[in-house]
Amino acid sequence: MINIVLFGPPGSGKGTQAQNLIEKFNLKQISTGDLFRYNIKNETELGKLAKSYIDKGELVPDQVTTDMLTDEVKKPTDTNGFIFDGYPRTVNQTEALEEIVKKELNSEISVCLSLVVEDEILVNRLLKRGETSGRTDDSNEEIIRTRIQEYYSKTAEVAELYKKQNKYVEIKGVGEIDEISEMLYAEVEKIK
Ligand code: ADP
Repeated sequence: MINIVLFGPPGSGKGTQAQNLIEKFNLKQISTGDLFRYNIKNETELGKLAKSYIDKGELVPDQVTTDMLTDEVKKPTDTNGFIFDGYPRTVNQTEALEEIVKKELNSEISVCLSLVVEDEILVNRLLKRGETSGRTDDSNEEIIRTRIQEYYSKTAEVAELYKKQNKYVEIKGVGEIDEISEMLYAEVEKIK
């Protein structure tokens, strides 16, 4: 199995690159952000809870996020593995993911691919996306800056855990989308 953690701050291009990677290697993408938005759209209890955090740019609590992710991992799939997009975002989630992958898939995380983009580019990309995406959390610079702040205070340390396991690879996330994809493919080929 290939199990990829796609990592990076908001606006670094995880969703875009996940799309290319799933096609190239026949993987299943699990995006916790997409799952929350699906729940918000359908006005579920989980959606209502998540919305109260997402609209402020804050992380949703670990337990509900992890439960939602676990349900998704348990669904049968005939792919070669998974791309985790937007999860883990805390140390607690990183430890949870390790257990879930072991217990449910009898496997492990193969690699953490980290897209590196500087903050001012992130803010510009997200504001631009907000013009068309309809995402409330993309519509306002203050919320965007809170999200980037959350990334540095809670998420960046996740990288240290994968570095310790020699599973952490940084890729420059600025440039042509296809060129960035090629760099990611090359890293996946190494662990195949
Ligand atoms: P982006 O990477 O652009 O911030 P996402 O779609 O990944 O967008 O996430 C949107 C929001 O959903 C986050 O700001 C956060 O509130 C919530 N969220 C997504 N994934 C997680 C997670 N693993 N843990 C906690 N909150 C999450």
